[in-house]
Amino acid sequence: MAQYDVIVIGLGAVGSAAADHLARRGARVLGLEQFTPAHDRGSSHGETRIIRTAYFEDPAYVPLVQRAFELWEDLERRSGRRLLTYTGALMLGRPESEVVRGTLESARRWDLPHEELDAAAARRRFPAFAVPEDAVAVYEERAGVVNPELGVTAALDAAREAGAELRFEERVVGWDAGDAGVEVGTPEGRYRASRLVIAGGAWNPVLLEGLLPLQVERQVMHWFLPDGDIAPYLPERMPVFLWERPDGAQFYGFPALDGEAVKFCRHHGGETTTADDVDRSIRPEDAARVEEARAVLLPGLKPSPARSKVCMYTNTPDLNFCLGLHPAFSRVAVAAGLSGHGFKFAPVLGEIMADLALDGGTRHPIEPFRLDRFAK
Ligand SMILES: Cc1cc2nc3c(=O)[nH]c(=O)nc-3n(C[C@H](O)[C@H](O)[C@H](O)COP(=O)(O)OP(=O)(O)OC[C@H]3O[C@@H](n4cnc5c(N)ncnc54)[C@H](O)[C@@H]3O)c2cc1C
Repeated sequence: MAQYDVIVIGLGAVGSAAADHLARRGARVLGLEQFTPAHDRGSSHGETRIIRTAYFEDPAYVPLVQRAFELWEDLERRSGRRLLTYTGALMLGRPESEVVRGTLESARRWDLPHEELDAAAARRRFPAFAVPEDAVAVYEERAGVVNPELGVTAALDAAREAGAELRFEERVVGWDAGDAGVEVGTPEGRYRASRLVIAGGAWNPVLLEGLLPLQVERQVMHWFLPDGDIAPYLPERMPVFLWERPDGAQFYGFPALDGEAVKFCRHHGGETTTADDVDRSIRPEDAARVEEARAVLLPGLKPSPARSKVCMYTNTPDLNFCLGLHPAFSRVAVAAGLSGHGFKFAPVLGEIMADLALDGGTRHPIEPFRLDRFAK
């Protein structure tokens, strides 16, 4: 049986980055992925992911996202690929909304550069948005877009170059961890290692056998064409954005990076599913769920999406990550429950997984994301 230092289960956002970090630190790494490289069946596809610094969800994420920026830029240099596009980010909502309040709290706590605009000023500066009169805006420059397919591909290539063995279309069907090491089984064989990293995304509920209260949520991404001039929707004039409506529903989107289509989606509010049973077909009600909000915020786009695609969130009850060593198996590091906002952090989460697997701990501040915080 082949023997490795570390096996990584799942080569999506986190697993590809973990394999890259581990291999560059000299570990003998095996990565196992059930689908093809940078596939579209998990949570890391759809061309664009927002990256932003003033983190409305919790200021605890700010040092992690700052490290993620450094590591994305490093991966860009090493891979020679453009992974990041800086567009700035516009956070919109009433002053008391979670999005606006939380963004300002993070910005103040970490002394992050930002600008506050009223609705009229935001409309003048960013003419794509019909910012509602009762909304205010927070703009930050250190924000933009990461391309998920390119990001995963670059990390996989880097891991392979550093000596990792990566096996695709091979699904892990079981794993064991004991005092002597870990063993992982697939239909092709069994593999042994000293440590294991579990980064299975929406399949983590299966891989972790109920360890964490995770719920998989079906999410639909939509791309809309402008009903006229494309100019206001180009990344030079339109930042990435998040809008919290007065009823608390949150919507987000991206400028037309391809020069054609604007992405506009609802954050959360999708149906609960499982990774193996998710309905990947597009139904008429999917576009209907964003149409009212789209018409308010971006009235210059054509009503029906030009295309749509299904993706999955894997949520924890508090929508914060779960990062750490498995409470029952100290040889097993886990990244789970990224709750629909994990991609931007992929390289730092990979670094954290490598720290946990090789050193048993990390210098990164992951205490708020402990695995045992939901234990009764
Ligand atoms: C529509 C949508 C929009 C989003 N927008 C943003 C955003 O703007 N900004 C942001 O930061 N985040 C965003 N996210 C969240 C982010 O994309 C995810 O948090 C992140 O991609 C999850 O990474 P992961 O590595 O956990 O999962 P994945 O990238 O899905 O990787 C898990 C991998 O494990 C593999 N796997 C699972 N089980 C097995 C097994 N048994 N054997 C072998 N392989 C296995 C899977 O096939 C998969 O490749 C969004 C997510 C969605 C769905």
